[in-house]
Order: sequence, then structure tokens, then C-alpha cells
Amino acid sequence: RSELNPATTAPDVAPDLTAADLAVVTARGITRAFGDTTVLDGVDLRIRRGEVVALLGASGSGKSTLLRVLAGLDSGADGEVRTSGRTAVVFQEHRLLPWKRVADNIALGLRGPDLARRTSAALAGVGLADRGRAWPAELSGGQAQRVALARALVREPDILLLDEPFAALDALNRLRMQALFFRLRGEHDFAALLVTHDVNEALLLADRLLVLEDGRIAEDTPVPLPHPRTQDDPGFGALRRHL
Ligand code: ADP
Ligand code: MG
Repeated sequence: RSELNPATTAPDVAPDLTAADLAVVTARGITRAFGDTTVLDGVDLRIRRGEVVALLGASGSGKSTLLRVLAGLDSGADGEVRTSGRTAVVFQEHRLLPWKRVADNIALGLRGPDLARRTSAALAGVGLADRGRAWPAELSGGQAQRVALARALVREPDILLLDEPFAALDALNRLRMQALFFRLRGEHDFAALLVTHDVNEALLLADRLLVLEDGRIAEDTPVPLPHPRTQDDPGFGALRRHL
């Protein structure tokens, strides 16, 4: 190696990292209309590796539409989306297949000799180690949403797209899920776009807030508080024993 011309090897050894290289999602000029109504009107955004970004906006502002475009689920949009790495999506409804057991829902479409172990680990990770043989209909709403989260995380996504994942839950279960998300974030290495209309949730869980308004990102701001980032946080302290 010492005989090689350093000028030739340098780009491989120490590439210049730009913001774009660190991004797991880069979207430019995303435009989406339904009939005469332009819902997204040139949205630009970038999500960096490991970053949790909350997407806020009024009902009907186009949050779900944008998430679907980023997830590659909407072929009717204009603009450019670049993602690096694996993407997983969690919706407000769990969308588990009712005719498959919980473990089979999690493993759906995956292969590999250690799949059973990975599935068990994912279930244990969301506090449902003993429910792999259950049917989705036997779960509570909160449990089903945990399984949906496990199904996403077992894929070891680089980017997790979540569309109001906790909104359908009652207040206590929502808080539990927020605490769970907070813990999982420390255990996994994902970036996330978290669509929510709950500002408190955004402040609790996100590093950065985006506000969608009139088809564009009207605000892009870091979470202003030096808010706690560890599992010992007072905010979740009382909940830890439930997790
Ligand atoms: P949000 O998630 O912010 O509440 P949506 O992205 O679901 O908003 O919807 C934004 C707008 O686009 C709404 O006016 C909605 O009615 C419209 N819309 C979304 N999907 C469709 C569709 N498939 N066909 C027609 N209109 C749609
Ligand atoms: Mg929506």
C-alpha cells in the first residue's frame, strides 16, 4: 500500500463527506396534486443518518402524502427522492395480516437461517416475548402497534417512516409507546421521520421539527430545549417499570 500513489488512494481512504453523504433521505421538489388540488408544492427535505425528524402540520396538509412519496408508495408525484439503505414504514393502523400469527407477521417476506431468533428478539424488544404464537385479533391496540414496530425494526432499517403511529392509542398506551420508541432509538441505529400532530410528542422524541404548510416545509427547526436524552429521564422515569 505504501508504494501506491497517495493521490490515487486518498479518495477511497478518506472521502470528503458532505451533508448529502450523511443523508439517508434526500427529497427535492416533491410535488403532488390530486385533480386540481396541489397538496405538495415543491417539498425539499433531508434526513441525516440517525436523526429523528418530526413532521407536523394541520390535518389535510399533506403529511401522509409526503410520507407515502418518501416510502416509494406513490408513483404519482413529481420530484426526486433519494434514500440510502433500508426503509421501513409504520402506519397509524397496525396493518398486521389477520390470518398470520404475530411471529409470522414479523418475519413476513424475510429469509435466513436465524430468522426465528431475529423474530424472537424483535418481539422481546417491544416487550411481547411471549406473544409470537398469538393471532393479531388477540392483541390489544397497543400490543398490535408494538408488533408493527417490531415488524419494522426486524428489517434493521436505516430509515423508519412513521405516520401518526401512536395517534389511535389511549393516552397511557401512547405514553408507553413513546417511551418504547425512545428506548428503541438508543438500541437501534435508525433515522426516523415521525408524522404527528402532537407537538409534545414531537418535542419529546425528535431532534428536529418540520412544519408542512401550503404544500411546503414552512419551518425547519431543531428541537429548542436541551431536553434529556437518556433512559433515566424524569419524563419517562415512572414508566420504566412498565416497559
Ligand atoms: P394529512 O396526512 O396531513 O392529514 P393527507 O396527506 O392525508 O394529509 O392529505 C392531504 C390532502 O390530499 C387532503 O386534502 C386529502 O383529501 C388529499 N388526498 C390525499 N390522498 C388523496 C387521494 N388518493 N386522492 C385524492 N385526494 C387525496
Ligand atoms: Mg395523515
